[in-house]
Amino acid sequence: MLSTMQDVPLLISRILTHGSTIHGTSQVVTWTGESGPQRRSFAEIGDRSAQLAHALRADLGVVDDDRIATLMWNNSDHVEAYFAIPSMGAVLHTLNLRLPAEQLVWIVNHAADRVIIVNGSLLPLLAPLLPSLTAVEHIVVSGPGDRSLLDGASPQVHEYEELIAGKPVTYDWPQLDERQAAALCYTSGTTGDPKGVVYSHRSIYLHSMQVNMTQSMGLTDEDTSLVVVPQFHVNAWGLPHATFMTGVNMLMPDRFLQPAPLAEMIESERPTHAAAVPTIWQGLLKELTVQPRDVSSLGQVTIGGSACPPSLMKAFDELGMRVCHAWGMTETSPLGTVARPPAAAIGTDEEYAYRLTQGRFPAGVEARLTGPGGELLPWDGESAGELEVRGPWIAGAYYSGPDSEPLRPADKFSEDGWLKTGDVGTISPDGFLTLTDRAKDVIKSGGEWISSVDLENALMSHPDVAEAAVVAVPDEKWGERPLATVVLKEGASADFETLRAFLGEKVAKWQLPERWTVISAVPKTSVGKFDKKVLRKQYAEGELD
Ligand code: ADP
Repeated sequence: MLSTMQDVPLLISRILTHGSTIHGTSQVVTWTGESGPQRRSFAEIGDRSAQLAHALRADLGVVDDDRIATLMWNNSDHVEAYFAIPSMGAVLHTLNLRLPAEQLVWIVNHAADRVIIVNGSLLPLLAPLLPSLTAVEHIVVSGPGDRSLLDGASPQVHEYEELIAGKPVTYDWPQLDERQAAALCYTSGTTGDPKGVVYSHRSIYLHSMQVNMTQSMGLTDEDTSLVVVPQFHVNAWGLPHATFMTGVNMLMPDRFLQPAPLAEMIESERPTHAAAVPTIWQGLLKELTVQPRDVSSLGQVTIGGSACPPSLMKAFDELGMRVCHAWGMTETSPLGTVARPPAAAIGTDEEYAYRLTQGRFPAGVEARLTGPGGELLPWDGESAGELEVRGPWIAGAYYSGPDSEPLRPADKFSEDGWLKTGDVGTISPDGFLTLTDRAKDVIKSGGEWISSVDLENALMSHPDVAEAAVVAVPDEKWGERPLATVVLKEGASADFETLRAFLGEKVAKWQLPERWTVISAVPKTSVGKFDKKVLRKQYAEGELD
């Protein structure tokens, strides 16, 4: 028997209409690096999104599911693109501006993007690529930047503001199928070639509702969220959509992502929430020791993308900023778990331990752990296996081009359709996930597994250590052994013996690295994570001491 309920499709246009009317006075504030930031209300964003959609359709001839790429920082024009493109039925393709040129070219061509909306400040990056971009017909430039870089370009060049000027501020958004493609995002390729994940209207809608739940980010229209996580990195963890549902104000850093301007914008705009990967926060902490700032408004900081070192959580706690650790990936939209301790643990000694886990699965995400032979492992907090997940905002396949069948590689999807995350960990009986490592980063030493993350966290709790990354290096006797690369704090003098002794108090003796090296910075991926691929390449052969 079917239900008697209305079958209203879950569409991005509904989120836009809701946000721009019910929460019309909420704002997107974009940092400009000049005297004052740009402030745009949700109502204005609603109007301008309609204008952009008209311009794309009438002037640029965008139809059906054309892919429209954005090469943009976090700012309000980018938010308009976020809403206009999927609402009109086209597909938003966010481009990671930190990718190497050849990967960007590959991705744009793979997606067959017809239009690129680009921030003027990124033209030096885009202009040299244009001759290689086969399907791109139009470039739309927004914000300051040297337009002469596009002189002689073969795609047609448009000015964002001129394009939308005078267009109607309402749009009769089509009634799409909620399963239709809304946004396309390629993984950042930490562990291989980029793979395209295509989000649907439905998956984004449901994911946004989850982001808004109290046990996830739980923000309201009293909050302002500093969205540091890039809009090109898994839809800025769903924040632009989620905030339009609840009226949360957004503070957008644009291209000012260095620790000093971040500290300045926190002090002057007083956001209550912020979201970014750990490396951003390590940088901010360092900055605050050099130049103290009032960051007391930041009550909650969502940290994810890679494991949050306990030392970072502690330092933030001491500054009054409560870290909420979360886990996810491009394929999971990304919200997969959030570490909010259960009520019974709050105020007890266990609370902190819960906060350090990757977190608990929300109702929309089912999880299971599998052993090496594919057998299911118990949720006992001890049995470690590969995490597999499924749910309405979890990818079931990868995009393989406009006219091809989606890809379901066997190492990424189980036969019964679950996503194999490539992350290894345990799940406690009450559903808290603790990741010990990525399958590819774990160090396999003489039949035992050593967690590189455990070693890194222990090292980073030493007062002289700014950053530490541990990778496997081949070893004749043991197969693999850990190599520790350490970035020392300025003026620090700890030697390897001292660090080894310190580590010896925290991990088993057989796990202690024999090989050590000091480096000036841990190489980072395009989204600011430790790039162990580079370290492995650099050190897999060499013997260091
Ligand atoms: P890529 O896989 O290209 O790095 P993603 O941003 O999709 O791009 O990365 C997802 C991966 O990041 C996860 O599979 C996991 O290994 C890691 N990750 C994300 N959040 C956390 C976290 N809180 N703790 C540990 N690892 C995390």
